[in-house]
Amino acid sequence: MAIRLYNTLTRSKDEFRPIDPDNVRMYVCGPTVYDDAHIGNARPVIVFDLLYRLLRHEYGADHVTYARNITDLDDKINKRAHERGVTIRELTEGTTARFHAAIDALGALRPTVEPRATDHIEEMKALCEKLVASGHAYVAEDHVLFSVPDMPAYGRLSQRPLDDMIAGARVDVAPYKRSEMDFVLWKPSTEAHEPGWPSPCGIAQPGRPGWHIECSAMSWKHLGEVFDIHGGGIDLVFPHHENEVAQTTCAFGHQVMANVWMHNGFLQVEGEKMSKSLGNFVTIDDLLSTTKFGGQFWDGAVLRLAMLQTHYRQPIDWTVRRLEDSEATLIDWTNRRHDILNAFGSEIEIGLENDVDDKIIRSLQDDLNTHLAIARLHELSNAFALRGERAVGRSFLASTALLGLRFLPFETPSLSDERRDAIAILVAARLAARKARNFAESDRIRDELVAMGIQLMDGKDPATGEIVTTWEVMR
Ligand code: AMP
Ligand code: ZN
Repeated sequence: MAIRLYNTLTRSKDEFRPIDPDNVRMYVCGPTVYDDAHIGNARPVIVFDLLYRLLRHEYGADHVTYARNITDLDDKINKRAHERGVTIRELTEGTTARFHAAIDALGALRPTVEPRATDHIEEMKALCEKLVASGHAYVAEDHVLFSVPDMPAYGRLSQRPLDDMIAGARVDVAPYKRSEMDFVLWKPSTEAHEPGWPSPCGIAQPGRPGWHIECSAMSWKHLGEVFDIHGGGIDLVFPHHENEVAQTTCAFGHQVMANVWMHNGFLQVEGEKMSKSLGNFVTIDDLLSTTKFGGQFWDGAVLRLAMLQTHYRQPIDWTVRRLEDSEATLIDWTNRRHDILNAFGSEIEIGLENDVDDKIIRSLQDDLNTHLAIARLHELSNAFALRGERAVGRSFLASTALLGLRFLPFETPSLSDERRDAIAILVAARLAARKARNFAESDRIRDELVAMGIQLMDGKDPATGEIVTTWEVMR
């Protein structure tokens, strides 16, 4: 059976046919790194990580290119860096390092490429030049603007009525726009704290790109003029993705930018989208290393399973109950793995790629039906508990791995005093590096400990608010 994916562009679930099966290409809009990622931001990371794993399974690990950008150029970033009195680079390097640590804990693979907007200014300028040259954009008061009325297909992706789009555009009226729907490709940098580069299209004043052009430039550079899948949260369909399509298709003269457009639903709290601006957010780090949500630390795998319980297009209502249920399931599955290893030895975990359960593959091929896939994992786990068959054990382990689900750590076995001392010294050094905000060093030490088989857990001392780190031996 082939993969079928719901495509926002066609509003139907279509069979997925890659342009080149030897190089399947997917782009996903990544985080704007002005602050720590919240668990709503974790949703696209987990959903598209699962799709990436499925594509690698179907087409081969070397035949999929996954690009997820880092938006390190944005007015919110400029403002935050200015407020904190740090440079933009200092701010974004810290938040990017923390984003990486958080999503590693969720079991998400790193994408093939992770382009940063600030490394693609030349491509953005080249797109501005092309669009002005072909009459799709114009220069006005040191801005480059995309001319929406010159593009008859505008609105095809979001399928919004024209009136709605005009009303939306009114939020951002400006005297230099020829039409109120026109949007900014490039704008002048006039304040001292705003980053600026030499402008394209004969503009003397230094400037910076608009947000939408960033993704058109990075996807073009890493995936080409037309590619297979473009993803992001449902909030990005309009205007962000509509404008990406406008820029890329008009610059290169193709009908489409990506063949398949996929959008995850919102993660909500009490019926409202979790977001920084509403203030109703919990960061990934809050869940992993503080007791803020539900009075305990949660393992990244618990968060991942909790997220995958709901189909990616449906909204998720985030509750402690959901995490407790997922944790109970993972404890059960961790015990099952323990039974499997006890029965057949650790060699049973070698070379599992071809042992993924057929029903689980078919569920995922059906527009990532994770709910069915998880139900099947329960069946496999129970079947092993009943009959103890090797093939069922392998298929259970292979299938949890395809879903990117890790098992939970076990109790700490006895270690020599010498080894405990060595670990304590490294843990203290990492904490000192963290306090000095030297995240590169603290990550390096954490990796060193992981290589020694030690997993760290950060928490806050409720009395002093100080970070305390505990550790255990990984299984
Ligand atoms: P941002 O950092 O706001 O640019 O968002 C990064 C990604 O997270 C985008 O794909 C957003 O659509 C997605 N996102 C933001 N908030 C939520 C939410 N509450 N639920 C699901 N996805 C979200
Ligand atoms: Zn984007």
